[in-house]
Amino acid sequence: MTQQKTSKAKQFVQDEKRYFAPFARIPYYDLVIDHALGSTLVDIDGKEYLDLITSASAINVGHRHPKVVAAMRAQEDKLLHYTPAYYHTEPVVQLAKKLTEITPGDFDKKVAFGLSGSDANDAIIKLARAYTKRPYIISFVNSYHGATYGSMSLSALSLNMRRKMSPLVPGIFHIPYPDVYRANKSTAEVVEECIQAVKDLFATYVPAEEVACVIMEPVAGDAGIVVPPKDYVEELYALCKENGILFAVDEVQQGMGRTGKWWAIQHFDIEPDLLSTAKSLGSGMPISAVVGRSKIMDSLEAPAHLFTTAGNPVCCAAALATIEVIEEEQLVEKSRVDGEYAKQRFQAMQSEFDFIGDVRGIGLNLGIEIVKDKVTHEKDQAAGLKIIYQAFAKGLAIITIAKSVLRFQPALTMTRAELDRAIDTLHEVFTDLRDNKI
Ligand code: PLP
Repeated sequence: MTQQKTSKAKQFVQDEKRYFAPFARIPYYDLVIDHALGSTLVDIDGKEYLDLITSASAINVGHRHPKVVAAMRAQEDKLLHYTPAYYHTEPVVQLAKKLTEITPGDFDKKVAFGLSGSDANDAIIKLARAYTKRPYIISFVNSYHGATYGSMSLSALSLNMRRKMSPLVPGIFHIPYPDVYRANKSTAEVVEECIQAVKDLFATYVPAEEVACVIMEPVAGDAGIVVPPKDYVEELYALCKENGILFAVDEVQQGMGRTGKWWAIQHFDIEPDLLSTAKSLGSGMPISAVVGRSKIMDSLEAPAHLFTTAGNPVCCAAALATIEVIEEEQLVEKSRVDGEYAKQRFQAMQSEFDFIGDVRGIGLNLGIEIVKDKVTHEKDQAAGLKIIYQAFAKGLAIITIAKSVLRFQPALTMTRAELDRAIDTLHEVFTDLRDNKI
């Protein structure tokens, strides 16, 4: 029976390799998901896995949350879609209003909808240029903002991608992200060097008065869950304000309660001019939004950022229900408390295992860096892969990012018992690695 089922999974994967374009998937072990509920994924052979990456941080309220499903069904019974380009639908306006209320900044805001984090970040480029009438945009080395041309041009995570698809959108420059662990220097040194790099760029190559906006992931997700020093963000923000540069944040991965605040930028007490969100906004349904100061949002006219299927009412209903669930179940606070607990447990393992170089992150949003050497911080990609494959065999869905960082982003609804089970299992896997069993 099991043999038969296993071959079913293999056949599926073979078919998929034949028909599915390779550039839409980063290859890991083959998990063929049949269904999911809460924090549990079930594969086509009926085997269960605890989901520790939640579709790349897109399912903060857990899979098929009953309230989200009910809200979508109720909307499906009324209207599947009408483009907001021409006519009005209620969920679109309700969601826009709600987003202006829950995002930081006590000023007038407006919202534009799209379908993905990538297009939301494209909107930031368009809006910043239109509003400031300045050409240049500043983003970060090792950032990931998406796969459309604009958002890919903001990103600087994959040299190959840039090489194969260049020329990208012009006028975008990348500054170093203050990654203290990777720099292997003191926090103060990293802050000073990274701020100096911005000043040098302004002085030598990109005049500050020609810069429209800086776009930043307030916690760098795909770069390995890197939390920047508060001093750095404050100084960068001050530089922006001094020079009339807009400050935009990409909250696509780190927003919606993931870091133990509604938005990651709130850890830095900064009110951004523009904010992008997607992924968990609609519990994985294709919806994104840019929320910005009204005067900036008024600087473009149709069809500057108009997609026929943007602001789909079923997706808006999913988003409204997702926000309601986060509020009702106090998931922002739960993320903070459970994240602190998980971090402490992993930090205890850091002293037990030589290959755990760093445990970082805020909220249920941790990066556990696997290294060859705790002094040099040299990454150990092979060990990271061994860990995730063994974890998979033991019923955990977890991946590595930035070559050697375990990405720990479970649903914010994950129970304490499930969290303990996941952490205990990872401890077993680490022990297997240390004892050369894998
Ligand atoms: N911004 C960040 C920080 C992301 O992590 C991602 C996706 O991983 C994106 C933008 C792109 O979002 P999407 O894949 O929905 O286009």
